[in-house]
Amino acid sequence: MKSHYTIPIFIPQKACPFQCVYCNQYKITDHQQSLEPEEVINTIERYLTTFPEKAVKRIGFFGGSFTGMSIEEQNRYLDIVQPYIDAGKIDTIQLSTRPDYINEEILENLKKHRVSIVELGAQSLDERILAIVGRGHSVKDVEEASKMINGYGFELGLQMMIGLPGDTREGALRTAHKIIELGAKNTRIYPTLVIKDTVLERMYNDGEYTPLSLEEAVAWCSELMQLFEANNVKILRMGLHPSEGLMNHSSLIAGPFHVSFRELVMTRIWHDRLVKIFAGRNGDEKIVIEVPKDEMRYVIGYGSANRKLLKDNMLSFDRINFS
Ligand code: SF4
Repeated sequence: MKSHYTIPIFIPQKACPFQCVYCNQYKITDHQQSLEPEEVINTIERYLTTFPEKAVKRIGFFGGSFTGMSIEEQNRYLDIVQPYIDAGKIDTIQLSTRPDYINEEILENLKKHRVSIVELGAQSLDERILAIVGRGHSVKDVEEASKMINGYGFELGLQMMIGLPGDTREGALRTAHKIIELGAKNTRIYPTLVIKDTVLERMYNDGEYTPLSLEEAVAWCSELMQLFEANNVKILRMGLHPSEGLMNHSSLIAGPFHVSFRELVMTRIWHDRLVKIFAGRNGDEKIVIEVPKDEMRYVIGYGSANRKLLKDNMLSFDRINFS
């Protein structure tokens, strides 16, 4: 199978008319500079030199709500990519946007510009939670947009958040089931963090909101991951990108942030599998476990957590053949 490489182009966020409680983007004004075509071209050229010849190469427009821009503005970016697709240097375009910024005119235009993946920030498919967090769109908006995106033959992505105010483990699983039902082919899962200068920070300080612990977020995500994988929904990302503000805590007030979040989730999944495999067995048995090569580090676990678990139970990898 060919590997996929994406060139991320971050579109500067224009003043956003919404006020999601977890987001501090409302402070951004229209004065933010737009991205010049030369900057986009330079980024593409720079990345292309690092990609293997035979890989599938994509341009990903992230950051803002792409289709919230005027068609002219969208085309300013999309037109830059067209010569690269014509020359066979780029295979396709993907972008992310809001569910209420989708209509037929927008999708026609994206199709014409050879976009193939459209990701929607659904965040939750519980009407009550959408209202509490001030998303400004309904579950119906997500359903209708998903139907249209599928109808036009795009690959649909639906992103979700866990641990939003009012969320529960069962509620998160319901959202995941709905994402599968709506025909998403990919997803991103973001545990909610309390970011500085947000409404959520005020709610947290007033005791109206408690974020998930890291352990809870890892446990919820391990269930979600297995559910999505069993239904062929690819997980493109779990956990926020470790920006400088999160890493040095200057913008992070509270919440389940970890630089190796996905690795923690995979460690947890293998922990649960190993516990099941070894239940009731003793150290004298020879057990062979089939492990995909790229998952071996998760079997050993983050910080060797799973290796220690086996050791504590008088078992060791030396006596277990991994194949
Ligand atoms: S998360 Fe909400 S408030 Fe923030 S930029 Fe997106 S739509 Fe706007």
